[in-house]
Amino acid sequence: MLSNDDIIKRRRGLMLVLSSPSGAGKTTLSRRLVEEDGGISLSISWTTRQKREGEEDSEHYVFVSKDDFRKMRAQDGFLEWAEVHDNYYGSPREPIMSSLANGRDVMFDIDWQGAQQLSLAAPSDVVKVFILPPSMAELKNRLIGRGQDSDAIIKKRMTNAYGEIARADTYDYVLVNEDLEWTYEKLKSIIIAERMRRYRQPWIGGFIQNLLREDV
Ligand code: ADP
Ligand code: 5GP
Repeated sequence: MLSNDDIIKRRRGLMLVLSSPSGAGKTTLSRRLVEEDGGISLSISWTTRQKREGEEDSEHYVFVSKDDFRKMRAQDGFLEWAEVHDNYYGSPREPIMSSLANGRDVMFDIDWQGAQQLSLAAPSDVVKVFILPPSMAELKNRLIGRGQDSDAIIKKRMTNAYGEIARADTYDYVLVNEDLEWTYEKLKSIIIAERMRRYRQPWIGGFIQNLLREDV
């Protein structure tokens, strides 16, 4: 019999992309998932934006200068990168590849441009989930309620939100984050189902052969 550990080691890790306009709830959802699900790690992006109050370096982002970001990019150090709200954001290649090699799933809190680049690089490994707010008014309330951005930044994020929401139709799954608990349950269901895809369980062929050899 395979133990849970064996199964985790012998499966092919998936890359779960969560995107949404800023304020729709993807950070809340992704952090909870990583805390509660031992099989998934969060990719910590590099960014050139200013640290917000309460954010920690290397925990929320790796905060770097534009020069350092460009150096890393020149060395092909990012699996994907994009310019968002006048700053650079990128997913560092090395920690992601090492998690996948250890049979762990990796979750990305990245925008549609990054989602598209990852899909092109590894189409069968990427699952893309888009989080929508229940309304634009509620999105604005959440940005204000989060209390981390100035009025000018909130205005800019709201303007950008329209363009980002228009990209939701390029995603595999779309969730409307009205009730947080219910959205979280739906997100977990997506992950459970995607892990069960036959090609993500490379051990299953041998397992089936063993079943067929069993004579009872
Ligand atoms: P994002 O990462 O998409 O920018 P956050 O996870 O930071 O969004 O969420 C923005 C704000 O909205 C936070 O204050 C969070 O607590 C709140 N929030 C998230 N989901 C919900 C929800 N379903 N209902 C009410 N508030 C929510
Ligand atoms: P924020 O500044 O609110 O943390 O993030 C702004 C936007 O940048 C969000 O849409 C977020 O998903 C996106 N983002 C964060 N990290 C990355 C990354 O590594 N790559 C890409 N393409 N987008 C990112």
